[in-house]
Amino acid sequence: MTVYDRNNIFAKILRGEAPCTKVYEDEHVLAFNDINPKAPVHVLVIPKGEYVSIVDFTAKASAEAIAAFWRAVTKIADQLGVGSGFRVVSNHGPNGGQLVFHFHVHVTGRR
Ligand code: AMP
Repeated sequence: MTVYDRNNIFAKILRGEAPCTKVYEDEHVLAFNDINPKAPVHVLVIPKGEYVSIVDFTAKASAEAIAAFWRAVTKIADQLGVGSGFRVVSNHGPNGGQLVFHFHVHVTGRR
């Protein structure tokens, strides 16, 4: 498992050191628009804790953090007007096409 690198771009966004277009935030998660959208709605949802990928998150996060994360995903989709139909994707590892090594899911849909 890759070690978490605190200099990744999503860690910088969480610390307020890099900008983002925030669409949702609570105690556990932050969601913001993908900088290179592949659909009319394309949001990234990230936990506030330090997890490299979905595998790391599933293995190490508390049950509370995992539940809060997935509840936030559906809440955000609703809030963005795509609650009736959306896709959730998470790339794990270089072989899975992961480019940013802070766990995130892509939520895409057409408004
Ligand atoms: P992946 O790790 O393959 O899921 O891809 C990372 C995603 O993060 C890509 O869709 C990028 O467009 C997106 N991304 C990278 N940097 C930023 C940023 N500063 N703000 C918003 N989205 C970003």
